[in-house]
Amino acid sequence: MMTKKQVMVVEDNELNRAMLCEILSEDYQVLEAENGQRALEILRENKERIMLILLDVVMPVMDGYTFLDIIQKDEELSMIPVIVTMQGDTEDDEVSALTHGATDFVPKPYRPNVIRHRVASLIKLRETAAMENQIKYDRLTGLYTKEYFYRRVREVLDENPDKEYRIVCMNYENFKLYNDMFGRDKGDELLIEGARKCLLYIGEDAICCRLRADRFVFLQETEKEKASREKYMFKAKNEQTGMSKNVSVKLGVYEVTERSLSVEQMCDRASLAVDSIKGKYNQAVAVYDDELREKLLREKEIEDEMVRALKEGDFSVYFQPKYSLQDNVVAGAESLVRWIHPKWGTIYPVEFVSLFEENGFIPYLDRFIWEAVCRKLHEWQKAGLPIVPVSVNVSRADFLQYQLVDVLSNLVKKYEIAPEFLHLEITESAYTKHQDTIISTVDELRKLNFIVEMDDFGSGYSSLNLLSRMSLDTLKLDMEFVQNEIAKTPEQSILNDIISMAHKLHLTVVAEGIETKEQAKRLKKAGCDYGQGYFFAKPMSAEEFEHLLEGQRKSKKSGFEISRKPEKM
Ligand code: C2E
Ligand code: CA
Ligand code: CA
Repeated sequence: MMTKKQVMVVEDNELNRAMLCEILSEDYQVLEAENGQRALEILRENKERIMLILLDVVMPVMDGYTFLDIIQKDEELSMIPVIVTMQGDTEDDEVSALTHGATDFVPKPYRPNVIRHRVASLIKLRETAAMENQIKYDRLTGLYTKEYFYRRVREVLDENPDKEYRIVCMNYENFKLYNDMFGRDKGDELLIEGARKCLLYIGEDAICCRLRADRFVFLQETEKEKASREKYMFKAKNEQTGMSKNVSVKLGVYEVTERSLSVEQMCDRASLAVDSIKGKYNQAVAVYDDELREKLLREKEIEDEMVRALKEGDFSVYFQPKYSLQDNVVAGAESLVRWIHPKWGTIYPVEFVSLFEENGFIPYLDRFIWEAVCRKLHEWQKAGLPIVPVSVNVSRADFLQYQLVDVLSNLVKKYEIAPEFLHLEITESAYTKHQDTIISTVDELRKLNFIVEMDDFGSGYSSLNLLSRMSLDTLKLDMEFVQNEIAKTPEQSILNDIISMAHKLHLTVVAEGIETKEQAKRLKKAGCDYGQGYFFAKPMSAEEFEHLLEGQRKSKKSGFEISRKPEKM
């Protein structure tokens, strides 16, 4: 069954309202409002669907003229024809209605046939005008424009209440990069090719538009085959340079379960779904579901809170000791941030660090953490504790945001700490982009005696060749890598090889995520220098770590030897 077109009756008098409904309900779905205020609310929720408004002028709360004045100011709402109904029948009445923006005027008492006729012809007129007025096609791709797409989708949904649909948003991965590499024209070609692919896949009669830049949306009947990654991989080649690059696209899906949403909102959801897998190389399709919705809401909450949290001191530093595997002495620590939120309690970095890396907040947080670490080292040094080097985490954004070298050297100066007591853990993935900047900054830092550790080694980015290109002090083996390698037989495992290779390059080796005695023993046997993990100690507050150092002083052990190994062995 086809859904009827919607009209709205705005009239405070119940009897009049009932009469108008009676007149119109055979042909239309009639929405009712008892005053202008209520009418506006209904209109905002149904603006894509309401085809015409019948409006009384004299009403409580908000009268008809005020209502007309408001909708005239709105680009979309002012397109909806309004028929004013009024008790009087003078020319003045009619003129004042029209000057307020009404399209037509009918006097009371109602004459049913006249009303039916005028409503029908105004709706028809509007539809034709709207069609003609609208730019239907996107100039570059030949697909529908966004506006036309919204309207068409709404019509299809209304005309087919029994069918199921989904909105699919398609986005190129790294389109900007592609544009930079190959130039704008090639970028445009790629967009056109994408559009063609889109159509091939969903059928020539498909409803498909370019939402913006490199983002397309289309309406698909759910019955049709699910989108698959293979279909959306294609090679783009630049004839001039002969360079070829695999371009992959990502898809975000919103299954249309709430038809009351505007089409724009549906597209937003599909868009959010596709954004949620940006940069995730192993995931090509994401569906907007409750889980994603929750996650996005949570991220939004976190982003709303982060600046306040930093200002008000929610963030604090925890320390996880690193042990020398040869003699079980605390030889260092890693600083790890904790967010102690007044309402939410303790939040761990997995929930916010990658979000802050994306939204650009991480440099502010990191700088705060580095300073907190330096302050603690200073305090401990003053108190005569046998201090050990503490490592801080450094994200890629820290290299790009500001003068990292200056910031760090100012900090150690300010807190009178030898730079070799501040180790810098740079995550392996940081080296994948902007390699030259990172390598030269690392060189500078090492010249100033900071100790640089490559964090998460073995976690997936192949960086063996990087190791030969850059100078480092320490290789920090990733937790999962360590645990996987230990689970293998000694013959199959490459653990020993990695450790001896590191030693040949004059790197010390730290293993992360040691959870059992067996793992500790095995790593010690393999020649690994230091270990960190729950088997030794969990991350702890500054006070707890202080007690640990205190205990170490009493037993006269010291872990100083973690500083740089001699260049030549
Ligand atoms: P990461 O640098 O690899 O830090 C090690 C993570 O492993 C820590 O999680 C630590 O608590 C956890 N861990 C240590 N030993 C074990 C173990 O034996 N078993 C298990 N299952 N886990 C262990 P945490 O504190 O949640 O930090 C997660 C990640 O967040 C860190 O990974 C680091 O990449 C990032 N991060 C933490 N603090 C900061 C910071 O201040 N700045 C920046 N940029 N990133 C930070
Ligand atoms: Ca780390
Ligand atoms: Ca790590």
